[in-house]
Amino acid sequence: MGGDAKNRPAKTLRVCEMFHSIQGESTWAGLPCFFIRLTGCNLRCVWCDTAYSFDEGKHMSLAAILDAVKRAGCPLVEITGGEPLAQRACGDLAALLLDAGYTVLVETGGSLPIDRLPEQAIKIMDLKCPDSGMCDKNHWPNLELLHPDRDEVKLVCASRRDYEWGREVLRDHALHERCRAVLFSPVHGRLDPKELAAWMLADGLPARLQLQLHKYIWPPDRRGV
Ligand code: SF4
Repeated sequence: MGGDAKNRPAKTLRVCEMFHSIQGESTWAGLPCFFIRLTGCNLRCVWCDTAYSFDEGKHMSLAAILDAVKRAGCPLVEITGGEPLAQRACGDLAALLLDAGYTVLVETGGSLPIDRLPEQAIKIMDLKCPDSGMCDKNHWPNLELLHPDRDEVKLVCASRRDYEWGREVLRDHALHERCRAVLFSPVHGRLDPKELAAWMLADGLPARLQLQLHKYIWPPDRRGV
């Protein structure tokens, strides 16, 4: 290692919160999971439920984050936000955790290139529907980068309009063939899951209905769960 590398400051990430809870989303729902929520997001979804992550947080070295993960003793780790990919060192953290033997999920809003992450990291990627107000921010080349046996795509629906948009995207891009699971999730308190279920059944959609499990176990606005 040269002198330059020795003097280089250690990489840091701004971390909003870390906690051990039950995974509430994706096909990993129900499993104990350690969450690392990074600060900051380049989007402003109308129905965002983690707006506190936009600017709360403290800088931590990657080594300090890894120590916290080790103390939790949980083999499943999720890096989320905010938008975790908005911080460049997110990929370094994912690589560090993978090297240490953890299963790593990364939840991303889908507006930034997912190739900033190691291939082995499991991407849970949103495609933003119209009612989010962020539909024009979807980074479509990401669809080519999804791993068919590992990654998942999530469409959060606030309305029938969102559902129909998601249904057409699924069909036009054969989303169900590009990734491990396509998840349709109602905005909590805005779209009745019964309605979304009925639409999916009527259309025979090759997708899963996803409810945010943590919002049924704990109060929907509870943080750190
Ligand atoms: S991408 Fe996620 S964190 Fe960012 S505004 Fe949308 S819902 Fe909130």
